[in-house]
Amino acid sequence: MKAQRTRSQERILALLKTLNRAVSAQDLYVELRSQSQSMGLATVYRSLDALKLEGVVQVRTLASGESLYSCLQQDKHHLTCLQCGASIPIHECPVHELETQLQRSHQFKIYYHTLEFFGLCDPCQAAQSANGVVS
Ligand SMILES: [Zn+2]
Ligand SMILES: [Zn+2]
Repeated sequence: MKAQRTRSQERILALLKTLNRAVSAQDLYVELRSQSQSMGLATVYRSLDALKLEGVVQVRTLASGESLYSCLQQDKHHLTCLQCGASIPIHECPVHELETQLQRSHQFKIYYHTLEFFGLCDPCQAAQSANGVVS
């Protein structure tokens, strides 16, 4: 049984669909304002929370601690550079099979999973070794 969505929840979900990228609650708040659909930041957070529990919105927390929200979509993962913060999407998923198995063995309804890799991107590695030569 699906819970009835509020107008705010519907608006936020629609906006996330059109944006088609991961955004922070603050970004959503600003975006809604620019479309003259203003709502309070607290309402934005509350709506995101409800949508998250419904399994239609996915949250991704960055190394900076900021949470980014997006429509639940493809299985997407990232390589994140600790130096410059670049986020490089990868298209393989090694745990997709595992997810199916876990759903079955634990009777757990999995909405999504996250998988992230942290390190240095190519340009940052180059910069680092260049610095190494100088010092
Ligand atoms: Zn980098
Ligand atoms: Zn995956």
